[in-house]
Amino acid sequence: MNYQEIFEKISDELKDFEQIGQVAAYIPALAKANPNSFGMYLVTEEGHEYAHGDTDTPFSIQSISKVLSLVYAFKLVGTDLWKRVGVEPSGSPFNSLVQLEYEQGIPRNPLINAGAIVICDILLSHLNEPYDNFIAFVRELAGNSGIDYSSKTAESEKACGFKNNAHINLMKSFGNIENDVEEVLDFYFHLCSIEMSCKDLAQTFMFLARSGKNPLNGKQVLSARETKRINAIMLLCGFYDEAGEFAFKVGLPGKSGVGGGIVAIYPDQYSIAVWSPGLNSKGNSSKGIKALEIFTTITQSNVFGPSPIFDELEYE
Ligand code: GLU
Repeated sequence: MNYQEIFEKISDELKDFEQIGQVAAYIPALAKANPNSFGMYLVTEEGHEYAHGDTDTPFSIQSISKVLSLVYAFKLVGTDLWKRVGVEPSGSPFNSLVQLEYEQGIPRNPLINAGAIVICDILLSHLNEPYDNFIAFVRELAGNSGIDYSSKTAESEKACGFKNNAHINLMKSFGNIENDVEEVLDFYFHLCSIEMSCKDLAQTFMFLARSGKNPLNGKQVLSARETKRINAIMLLCGFYDEAGEFAFKVGLPGKSGVGGGIVAIYPDQYSIAVWSPGLNSKGNSSKGIKALEIFTTITQSNVFGPSPIFDELEYE
């Protein structure tokens, strides 16, 4: 497969893409992103790598970090995790409070804000040096010791994190938060603030395409069985209330963030990251989703089965 040529074709196809969307202005630090940035990076099972566009520029991964914190917590506490957070798609926006009250402070899944906040609480309870331990984990997956939190972004989000404050206080009232709410939220905002490039992101998620094994050092991060569960959660919950649409059009487990990044994996084949900061009304990268839709259509790689392309416009 000539992936480089496919990237060129996608970029060409989307060069006049009009529904580029709006950058996430509700976090002041993210409002400065350039909506015209665009990058795609692919890492394959054989270890080949393909890049197009802005693939070395670090950006705020935001909610994409929720998968990494989930993986870390799953490693630490195993299936006990599911007593504190569910695995059902929410069908509501990433920061919706409504379900949380009905469901007695147990978030629907670990990839919406409330769920990720509970995961942060679990990490704080189990790690001696949570900030250092977590970033070391991410750096090892990415093979990049330069990856870091952005205190500036974390502070910026903290200054207007009223909704996340509401989430954590509601969960605390139901007994689903063990630690001090300020400490948990601070950790959550830092996890969201981590900056990575498309290249780092595709590399970081490669273990989920390889039955849990980090291809860079051969270490088993999760068992194959556990990996399958994380991928299932990404497929069902990785795109807020657009998870169904993403499965329908792209057909891969993945995760997006309001920084405009998306990462998706095709088991036993590849990990792919795209970045375009303009978001659609559901908070997902508008151009990023379109690019992945075209990519999986041309390469016939989706978890639901291949379909031959009859003409150029099949993915429309
Ligand atoms: N830090 C963001 C928030 O809590 C993450 C949202 C996202 O990327 O979906 O609102």
